[in-house]
Amino acid sequence: MTEESYSYLFGPVPSRRLGLSLGVDLVPSKTCSLDCVYCESGATTKLTVKRSSLVPKDAVMAEIDRYFDAHEPPDAVTFSGAGEPTLHADIGEIAAYIKARCPGVRLVLLTNGTLFDREDVRRDASRMDLVIADYDAADKSVFKALNRPHPSLDPEKMAEGLVAFRDEFDGELWLEVFIVPGVNDDKAEVARIAEVVKRIGPDRVQVNTLDRPGTEPWVTPADEETLQSVTAALGFGEVIGAYRGRVASGESEMDVSLQILGMVKRRPCTIEDLEESLGMARVLVEDSLTALMAAGRIQEESQARGVFYKPL
Ligand code: SF4
Repeated sequence: MTEESYSYLFGPVPSRRLGLSLGVDLVPSKTCSLDCVYCESGATTKLTVKRSSLVPKDAVMAEIDRYFDAHEPPDAVTFSGAGEPTLHADIGEIAAYIKARCPGVRLVLLTNGTLFDREDVRRDASRMDLVIADYDAADKSVFKALNRPHPSLDPEKMAEGLVAFRDEFDGELWLEVFIVPGVNDDKAEVARIAEVVKRIGPDRVQVNTLDRPGTEPWVTPADEETLQSVTAALGFGEVIGAYRGRVASGESEMDVSLQILGMVKRRPCTIEDLEESLGMARVLVEDSLTALMAAGRIQEESQARGVFYKPL
């Protein structure tokens, strides 16, 4: 697959959690109901809770057809990208279209979970096989400081929406809790989050922290001890670890460069991230990065975890 020939699909990329996953990005960057301080896709430029046909569904479906006509089905098709996928009013219809086209594929939704108090959003999300929703803050002031939400949003309403969804949904529901030291890692807030997690009753809980440059430079990663103690306090859960990807073969230099551009366009990556996510040999990644730097397509940024590459 050549990344630039698709506007709404990306990858497929190997994922530790999902296997080989084809991404579907239905939201123009960066349209979201939140503006999280840790967001790896940069600041939200359109803060909204209004659902609309953000990109034309016919064009997305045409790309789906073109992809499945030419490729083996991936393990999963994942709705994600730089923004909140449930803001797209046609996501349920697009999900149903993919399922009809390829019944064996696992449909996955990565969502910030803010709109699940709405029945139409829950109905659309119930088309998925797996929904992975964020829940980082139970206290209003923590929610404001960490997720900088649209003014109409409230963490309790969000919790109620996820509880209702859990009741109605036959598929798997995972929760992801993102920890930012000094903001949502104190005992009282973790206890409040744990109480909400218990009410929702997800199939899995994953605790995550900053792994690449966030939107605000003051955001730092939580240390291993904090992550383990939050995981223990939540009652059940796991710390998300690094994926050691399978090695792809037969990639042309052009394909490698386009795949790298597609990845860093969505979030900054180190050489190791690209190696793991794309399942490519380091030498291939390094050669392509050198070529992309020389062509003025990408730039470097040094962070504690190493040198990150992002679009120029
Ligand atoms: S992290 Fe997710 S929910 Fe938060 S601003 Fe970024 S895209 Fe939106």
